[in-house]
Amino acid sequence: MVKETAYYKILGVEPTCTPEELKKAYRKLALKYHPDKNPDEGEKFKAISQAYEVLADPKKRETYDRGGEEAIKGGESGGGFNFHSPMDIFDMFFGGGGGGRRGRGPSKGKDVVHQIKVSLEDLYKGATRKLALQKNVICDKCEGRGGKEGAVEKCTPCRGTGMQVRVQQIGPGMVQQIQSVCGDCQGQGERINPKYRCKNCQGRKVNRERKILEVHIDKGMKDGQNIRFHGEGDQEPGLEAGDIIIVLDEKEHPTFRRHENDLIMEMELGLVETLCGFQKTIPTLDDRTLVLTNIPGEVIKHGSIKCIMNEGMPIYKDPFEKGRLIIKFNVKFPEKIDPASVGQLEKILPARQEVIIPDGAEEHDLVDFDPKAQSNRRRTEAYGEEDDGDGMGGQRVQCASH
Ligand SMILES: [Zn+2]
Ligand SMILES: [Zn+2]
Repeated sequence: MVKETAYYKILGVEPTCTPEELKKAYRKLALKYHPDKNPDEGEKFKAISQAYEVLADPKKRETYDRGGEEAIKGGESGGGFNFHSPMDIFDMFFGGGGGGRRGRGPSKGKDVVHQIKVSLEDLYKGATRKLALQKNVICDKCEGRGGKEGAVEKCTPCRGTGMQVRVQQIGPGMVQQIQSVCGDCQGQGERINPKYRCKNCQGRKVNRERKILEVHIDKGMKDGQNIRFHGEGDQEPGLEAGDIIIVLDEKEHPTFRRHENDLIMEMELGLVETLCGFQKTIPTLDDRTLVLTNIPGEVIKHGSIKCIMNEGMPIYKDPFEKGRLIIKFNVKFPEKIDPASVGQLEKILPARQEVIIPDGAEEHDLVDFDPKAQSNRRRTEAYGEEDDGDGMGGQRVQCASH
């Protein structure tokens, strides 16, 4: 039992979730609430990040499970726990991070993360996806200057600072300084003579352009894997462009579930198939058909698990090697059997065990189990005296509800 569940709830997972489920939950929410996409949800983005930071670390998760948020913030180790900035957590997770924050100087623009949905078939066979994006590209007419060479001049009213300071007298001998963004240059600190301003970009130095990215999905890639496009982020004069990071998001498949390089599926067998042998076909993710044959006489038990070697997912960067296809068998029993054929079955099946019934043994009928019937029974016990006395009232009520 965990003390609090708030961090789990923020991420929409159960306290029993695996590290993989945790990662997936964080990935989805962090991309959804990232300030680039959802500028008004800063608090939510922070909460998601803090919850993930604690739960992703097995030691901190254990501390939280034991003592809740208080144990994390109060710091059993004394000093308390300092959360990283949500952006740092995000960058660490997605492997991004513009140079600016990393102390390499503001030489690199920020990275942009996009998520694309991919099917299990795409990850099995490999695929190419075209992705249309809007991005800032340095104007090629003015080479990012915003106007003709020499047309850019320092803004006079603010002397190039981008800010204007106004001094206001608010009383005898009292003045107030009001600082505001320079209206002449909109805080740019420079202005371009309208006569020489670049007509292509209207002096903005960059243009918004549509760009098609070709995303190559290699065989065996996994849910959550990143594909990085170096220098494909927004361009800005004087900065090296950041990267575009594409994150793969695997769609659920109706038949197969993936676990690492294995594929897992369930197969239903009729009683005749499990006892008398069968042939079954399985369509693969690359449109081949596998035939399974179980020879008559080999019984497959309900719940048994078998596997086919080398029919799982291809291994990334080694696609001729594959994982296993794991099949879990569910045997479907018939609802009823014609009592007339029971004798025939008895002859074939292993003999039943002889049972000795002692004198005075109590006879009972079986009733379908209903977990909700508990309260039902208690009520009948309470009113037991009003019952007609056969002591079966409770069971009758239960039976009637079926
Ligand atoms: Zn100015
Ligand atoms: Zn231009």
